[in-house]
Amino acid sequence: MTPDFDRELEERLLRYTAIDTQSDEASPTSPSTARQFDLLRLLVDELAGIGAEDVRLTDYGTVLATIPGAAGAPTIAFLAHVDTAPQFHASGVKPRVHRAYDGGSIGFPDAQDLVLSPEQSPYLAERAGDDIVTASGTTLLGADDKAGVAIVMAAARHLLANPGTSHAPVRIAFTPDEEIGRGVHADLPKDLGADVAYTFDGGARGEINYETFSADKAVVEITGVSIHPGQAKDKLVNALHLAAKIVDTLPQATRTPETTDGRQGFIHLYEMTGTAGAARLGFILRDFERDGLAAHGALVRQVSEAVAATEPRAAVEVTITPEYRNMRYWIEKDMRPVDLALAACRDIGIEPRSQPVRGGTDGSRLTEMGVPCPNLFTGMQEVHGPREYVSTADMAAAVRLALRLVELWGQEKPA
Ligand SMILES: [Zn+2]
Repeated sequence: MTPDFDRELEERLLRYTAIDTQSDEASPTSPSTARQFDLLRLLVDELAGIGAEDVRLTDYGTVLATIPGAAGAPTIAFLAHVDTAPQFHASGVKPRVHRAYDGGSIGFPDAQDLVLSPEQSPYLAERAGDDIVTASGTTLLGADDKAGVAIVMAAARHLLANPGTSHAPVRIAFTPDEEIGRGVHADLPKDLGADVAYTFDGGARGEINYETFSADKAVVEITGVSIHPGQAKDKLVNALHLAAKIVDTLPQATRTPETTDGRQGFIHLYEMTGTAGAARLGFILRDFERDGLAAHGALVRQVSEAVAATEPRAAVEVTITPEYRNMRYWIEKDMRPVDLALAACRDIGIEPRSQPVRGGTDGSRLTEMGVPCPNLFTGMQEVHGPREYVSTADMAAAVRLALRLVELWGQEKPA
């Protein structure tokens, strides 16, 4: 018997997306915004309501819970993040259900010119007949990652309502601040107490990701010589001109986000601020390989030093800090977490596909900290913008994947 999760998932998604949980990179607190507690506290209540054990909200804003399982089997964690992306309007989300989607264009009541069409989003054409959820035109939907939250909650409710089935013990974690790269607190691996984890934060049906970017940040600080422009002859050293030279010397037709895809990495200038006296350039560096990442950093350094050499009165300082690393480096040492996810996916009748993620996930950090954590599909599409949508049938497939996965892990021994 395959239970039908579609309506439960729809109700959960509508309930969760209506709550504003946008994170804020500028905030120093954890979670970054107090509004994330609105959903975190609701999830605490709902987990207690369905009978989960050890339900708690940590002081760093993560909800944890346990679903007991077979003794002797590895403990499996399911993660999803409650926050939504800071890049687009996220308050006042009015989710809309397009029941039995007809395969045509979808309009938005609050933005007359906005259209979601199968031409723009070919994946949508494959979802004809499904129930599709969108926002109303002026906000993102927040299926990233409330689709994941709904999937984990529906799987948890089903497991707790059907005890006796043999499955691995399951730990649940709902994290804040994934979108600003701060979802995995230093205490999470210990508090989670899991042998293996999975994030439900992926896109198209069948996606099972175990490769992410490796990521560094580079900051170039340029100090010029500031002086009243009226008396500046032969004295002023304009930091902004030097910053512009550095930007202009770095590649623009290659190695940028807008000119790369697939397995290619990039150098992305995301911030340029300053005055004639002092200027600052902010870059993110991304690559799937350590060598490639190091080469991007070396180029920023080399160009900055070359420009600095043209003006000895200026000071140019380059600081490169690591952000996260491709999870494949750890996962490839023991592929069982991936192999079982692939097997579970095939068991529910979906051919899995594994593509490298051109970004990071909570799982990148968690894997590096010792808990291998591949990323599984939720169905979410066109995320972080007004056309964001998700099919509840895709979400239901993800619930079946979760249930099959904990069954398979229930037959395994710990590593
Ligand atoms: Zn996400």
